[in-house]
Amino acid sequence: MQLVCLDLEGVLVPEIWIEFSQRTGIPELRRTTRDEPDYDKLMKFRLDILKQHKLGLPDIQKVIAEMGPMAGAKDFLDDLRQRFQVIILSDTFYEFAMPLMQQLGMPTLFCHKLEADASGTLVNYHLRMANQKMEAVKRFRELNFKTIAAGDSYNDTAMLGEAHAGILFHPPENVIREFPQFPVTMNYAELDAEIRKASARI
Ligand SMILES: [Mg+2]
Repeated sequence: MQLVCLDLEGVLVPEIWIEFSQRTGIPELRRTTRDEPDYDKLMKFRLDILKQHKLGLPDIQKVIAEMGPMAGAKDFLDDLRQRFQVIILSDTFYEFAMPLMQQLGMPTLFCHKLEADASGTLVNYHLRMANQKMEAVKRFRELNFKTIAAGDSYNDTAMLGEAHAGILFHPPENVIREFPQFPVTMNYAELDAEIRKASARI
């Protein structure tokens, strides 16, 4: 059995923080792992900004509830799940992702947790472990699964390297330049074709 491990944001759903930034008019929240590869630095920066603007979890969840998956994502995923076991490996948080997972038919998601105080103010974040995307793929390999991984950004490249086949989906130019070893796909038809090719090869 082959596993397909997919990144979430930028692959199946929009970048949650960018969408949130647009709706709240806070430009600082546009920073993502595409701009800042150090994830801890990025998260501490985000939590500080939210606190400064007195925005808590309910505010964020309201925005996310109104966001949908990317156009065609549900059909792509439904079709993929007919042929593979699909696991979504994301550096987002369960508190953010669940309204979107419901719209995607509740695929399996491994991600992180947020901590809010009684007023809903986000006080901390908890990574289950460092480099969980890459570590998860490593463990799947140890369980004798052949893995195909796809993602769009810096925080996916270790996962892509660890998998039997790694594929970039709609990545920014700098990631394409720095990681020429991974095939680049720009839409779901291309990603599906690349997954089929990888599946036949591994
Ligand atoms: Mg992403």
